[in-house]
Amino acid sequence: MAPEIKYTKIFINNEWVGSKSGKTFDTYNPHDGSVIAKVAEGDKDDIAAAVAAAKAAFHRNSEWRLLDASARGRLLNKFADLIERDQEYLSSLETYNNGMICSFSKFMAQGMLPASVRYLASLADKIQGDTIPTDGDLFTYTLKQPVGVCGLILPWNGPMPMFVNKVCTALAAGCTVVVKPAEQTPLTALALAALLAEAGVPKGVVNVVPGYGHTAGASLTHHPDVAKISFTGSVEVGKLIQQAAGVNNLKRVTLELGGKSPLVIMDDADLNLAVPVAAHGVFTHQGQVCVAASRLYVQSGIYDKFVEAAVKYAQTLKIGNPNDPTTQHGPQIDDEMLKKVLGYVEQGKKEGAKLLTGGKRIGNTGYYIEPTVFADVKDNMTIAKEEIFGPVQSILKFDTLEEVIDRANNTSFGLAAGICTTNVNNALQFSKHVEAGIVWVNTYLVFGAQAPFGGFKESGLGREGGINCLDPYLEVKTVSMALPKKL
Ligand code: NAD
Repeated sequence: MAPEIKYTKIFINNEWVGSKSGKTFDTYNPHDGSVIAKVAEGDKDDIAAAVAAAKAAFHRNSEWRLLDASARGRLLNKFADLIERDQEYLSSLETYNNGMICSFSKFMAQGMLPASVRYLASLADKIQGDTIPTDGDLFTYTLKQPVGVCGLILPWNGPMPMFVNKVCTALAAGCTVVVKPAEQTPLTALALAALLAEAGVPKGVVNVVPGYGHTAGASLTHHPDVAKISFTGSVEVGKLIQQAAGVNNLKRVTLELGGKSPLVIMDDADLNLAVPVAAHGVFTHQGQVCVAASRLYVQSGIYDKFVEAAVKYAQTLKIGNPNDPTTQHGPQIDDEMLKKVLGYVEQGKKEGAKLLTGGKRIGNTGYYIEPTVFADVKDNMTIAKEEIFGPVQSILKFDTLEEVIDRANNTSFGLAAGICTTNVNNALQFSKHVEAGIVWVNTYLVFGAQAPFGGFKESGLGREGGINCLDPYLEVKTVSMALPKKL
């Protein structure tokens, strides 16, 4: 049964309002392409209202600014409790609007998201400055203070985790926020905003404005009262955001962008482990994962055996309705991405890669694509260079570790990388020299709020998660006090 759609309006000052223009946009179910709801379409004026609310909530005398840091932590813990309470609803809404298979959306709502929120909550009262032994008759210390109003711009591929991580990091630091969810997937962001209000977040602290990137998103990145932007999305838009951030003021910017992540399978790898790790790395969420293992380098000694096993594995994935708990492979997000991914498949064939399984659309409703495996892919082929963001495993052959490290690094991306090997020296060498923000050894796609996440090179700027994750949301202030005599 379809989940009830409770919220479709803009959320400002803990209230639901229509867009100032009166415009709405349709949001869809990727399983069958049907319209789920009409959602208020925010634009410049709505962003202005949301930023004004967030600015007022950040005033030094506001309820939010006067709250003890530990109370911010308790508030976030209450939010985690509410996510757990509503886990069934939230996961079904995510699956409905995003096409994420329900076993995955449940895993998030039940475990991953509350755990992340609790970790971030625990950091709220650990924001500490230093006392510094400066020269002369001075007492010098630092304060770490929230940066101000933060604009948080989200992609469609992981609507709930993106919302939860960005919002709770900003709130733990004491900031106020305006969130712009992706136009494809606004519904869970709105439902989570309602839970934050229920948890007791004062009005104006969290505001959510659904809308398009070039209108609502761009207004947020240009707004002079926004102190910081945290963005997750494509490299192309990330570059626009960094430019916009310097136009009307100088916003702090963190960027979590795309990837073309290499996974290396050494001759000495355990094939029973490596084949599923590689498949999980690229087919999870139909390949719509920023860290997808989309360049699979297999050493020549096991190449043929591995390719045969990889094809068999891809063919076992159960494709179907994402609401079915046994489904392993659901739809792509929309028609545009369906066409884009199928275009890459055609390009792969044209450039001489060997298509061994998949490569076709399934049915005519919804946006399903078969899990696809290409072998004999060469580094200069388009499918080895560009982010496909679909269920396409591209297998490349290599001979030596040194060679594969250089080939793995020969890209402008630098998000994640992986290696399957039973030789610890291979693992250590690769992990040291690969240019990537995250490296997995004999596993792939494992995350924890306690560990930093982010990319080298064009895959991003800054890190989310980990003990220092509040830093990009804080300013450091140095206070030097004259003393009659040094203490
Ligand atoms: P996208 O860049 O098209 O859109 C992301 C967000 O930016 C959306 O909310 C969109 O409306 C907004 N936007 C678009 N143009 C804008 C503009 N000019 N100004 C301000 N905002 C604008 O990305 P997408 O298609 O939603 O997401 C897929 C991409 O995100 C992939 O490249 C993927 O690798 C990346 N991603 C990265 C991570 C990470 O943590 N590194 C995580 C998830 C997704």
